[in-house]
Amino acid sequence: MRVGVGCDVHPIEAGRECWLLGLHWPGVEGCSGHSDGDVAAHALCDALLSAAGLGDVGSVFGTVDPRWAGAGGQDIVAETARLLASAGWKVGNAAVQVIANTPTIGLRRVEAQEVLSGVLGAPVSVSATTTDGLGLAGRGEGRAAVATALVLPA
Ligand code: MG
Repeated sequence: MRVGVGCDVHPIEAGRECWLLGLHWPGVEGCSGHSDGDVAAHALCDALLSAAGLGDVGSVFGTVDPRWAGAGGQDIVAETARLLASAGWKVGNAAVQVIANTPTIGLRRVEAQEVLSGVLGAPVSVSATTTDGLGLAGRGEGRAAVATALVLPA
């Protein structure tokens, strides 16, 4: 078995749709980025790629690759799952924590877990925290996410 770790941070951009944990959050300002700015999906993929020794989101889904411009979080999680499977790994489980003031993850935690687990084909635990007003997340300038994953030979 191997474990991996992932982290991502994106700035919040006024007027942008919010995609987080593979879900659309109506009425919440989204994050900027080459893709849809879903920090949780990106951290999750980083953890999965890290566990499998396959690099990271930046090297696999590079910002120069037009295929991933505007890509959804679910799309890159699905592609990451495919990459791991073709490299001979199966996912044991993964966990992702959002660090942000908004949105209120708890209201849709179960839904997010179901969506991400379904796309990945393995259990994904979702949690969230704030930073008591400190740092970029606390000031509402951006959102961050951290993730871990465990993989084992298929
Ligand atoms: Mg990112």
